[in-house]
Amino acid sequence: MKELFEINYSKINAYNFCHYLYKFIYLDGNYVKHNWKTSLGISIHKCLVDYANKKLELKGLLESFEENWNNSGFDTPQQMMECYEIGVELIKKFYEFEKKNPSNIFSVDDFFEVFLDDEIVLKGTVDRVDILDDDSLEVIDYKLAIEEKNCIPHRNELQLMIYAFGISKKYLKKVSYITYYYITGPKKQRMEYNEDFSLIDNLKDMAIKMRNMEFYKRGKCEICLAKEFCRYREVKNGDI
Ligand code: SF4
Repeated sequence: MKELFEINYSKINAYNFCHYLYKFIYLDGNYVKHNWKTSLGISIHKCLVDYANKKLELKGLLESFEENWNNSGFDTPQQMMECYEIGVELIKKFYEFEKKNPSNIFSVDDFFEVFLDDEIVLKGTVDRVDILDDDSLEVIDYKLAIEEKNCIPHRNELQLMIYAFGISKKYLKKVSYITYYYITGPKKQRMEYNEDFSLIDNLKDMAIKMRNMEFYKRGKCEICLAKEFCRYREVKNGDI
């Protein structure tokens, strides 16, 4: 029997974007540096976990933001201070939005693990799961979307489809909705969830390609997080 191969949304997303990005991160072991957006996102994410777990009011939420502040990834101290202030405003608006739109939080940072067959395991951690009045679930992924404030783009649903599949298998409960929750706004993009029966076959195909190290498709280098460090930019497609 072959060794167990693990996939998760981050690996799938990297491989989908550029086969070499997957190789760059997961096989060559390179680390994509934090920037102001990822650092701010991490700080807010930790604070929102506390919000649910500790049932915080606004004062506690702001204290949690301060305690969880991640000060790496900023170009200058001034940029860091500006981002901190932006974060405080986002947290205040999030709290207001939650009060106006109350929901029943079932879990946060919820880990799942599903064996797709004897050799492939799908793992993931879901930002938040809400439980609805009919006892079904809503699977939620937070997005900072700070640069998309006035125009939230249509995102593909793959991430949420994977998470909904994992959470439905973990709890053996129906998932009714999948939702991107944009912290900037705030705004929810809520979609009805219907299981996609081709999803697992597609994920398995991709996992097999990753395991077989099939690298032939390059993404858009100009918008890639790894563009400054990646040595595959000059490689012709299929030439590695
Ligand atoms: S810089 Fe280009 S080749 Fe390198 S990982 Fe990014 S998209 Fe792929």
